[in-house]
Amino acid sequence: MSTKPEARPGKTRNTLQFVPELVYFEPDALHYPKGKRIHDWAVSLGLPIRITGSHNRITGLPGESELETYKIAKRTLVVGVRKTLKFDTSKPSAEYAIPIATGCMGHCHYCYLQTTLGAKPYIRIYVNTDDILEAARGYIAERAPEITRFEAACTSDPVGIEHISGSLKELIEFMGGQPLGRLRFVTKFHHVDSLLDAKHNGHTRFRFSVNADYVIRHFEPATSTFAERIEAAGKVARAGYPLGFVIAPIVWYDGWEDGYSDLLAKLGDAVPPEAANELTFELIQHRFTKTAKAVIQKRYPKTKLEMDEAKRKYKWGRWGQGKYVYPDEQAEALRQWITERIFAHFPKATIDYFT
Ligand code: SF4
Repeated sequence: MSTKPEARPGKTRNTLQFVPELVYFEPDALHYPKGKRIHDWAVSLGLPIRITGSHNRITGLPGESELETYKIAKRTLVVGVRKTLKFDTSKPSAEYAIPIATGCMGHCHYCYLQTTLGAKPYIRIYVNTDDILEAARGYIAERAPEITRFEAACTSDPVGIEHISGSLKELIEFMGGQPLGRLRFVTKFHHVDSLLDAKHNGHTRFRFSVNADYVIRHFEPATSTFAERIEAAGKVARAGYPLGFVIAPIVWYDGWEDGYSDLLAKLGDAVPPEAANELTFELIQHRFTKTAKAVIQKRYPKTKLEMDEAKRKYKWGRWGQGKYVYPDEQAEALRQWITERIFAHFPKATIDYFT
């Protein structure tokens, strides 16, 4: 069983839940109930298991070329203890990033994890959820009486590994009991069933990453299809979760107007009426750094992702390296076109930001 990339995402297929090819445990992780549970699960499936002192010491992954090793690393699970309990900020979608996992088995060409995780693209699940929740409690108390929002998908796609970790459900129920705490995450996977009965108390915004068919088809291998995501969105809306869509990355390609019009029309048909009034949208145009471009071209040499610096505008970054975004005129055209279609189908929706 595995989440295999398919040639034609968007067509009917059944994206299976992720099962790693190799599982590492940091020894301390086995002292936690979650670590033990994941160990039992890996044993029951007969998965190869290794013990490692630290994820930094993982070397010698199989693979005959760098590319093959990269692909295997993306299907390798590391179960460990989260040591840093200082949360990063997560603007503009939330105040803090809450760390429950790192890495993803998806192969989205544009994914920023390509660069942020560098040579360690394996999937890490942290077993000390209680410590993480305690830290979150502290952050909420610091900002009281303001609401504090936590983003759980900054460094991974937590829905894609929820059947292994169960961490998202714990977070959702924790935030459900926090008058001043809110959770949000975004996913490209449709495996939401275990979350439908969580006591969320309306404190978790469940967002799905959606895009024009062209983008999903060319740049998002090893993720759930659009049809699967949208069906899952209906389920979570009916379970009473506040629902949102993140349209990212918005890509300028030949025919983008029709592509994004179709997308909004399909969302218009699929979103249950009970979710339409409080729907949120986040719009993020495609951007890349020089480092990302080099990594992407190495890992996905045939990618059709346009990354021509000459066609872009350079936007200085806060920490040194800047990004290439669309020139103002193109960015504005994308923003305006998509915004108009959003309000045509969802007059009461909120657009949180375009960036
Ligand atoms: Fe990255 Fe999300 Fe794609 Fe995973 S699903 S590779 S986190 S963009």
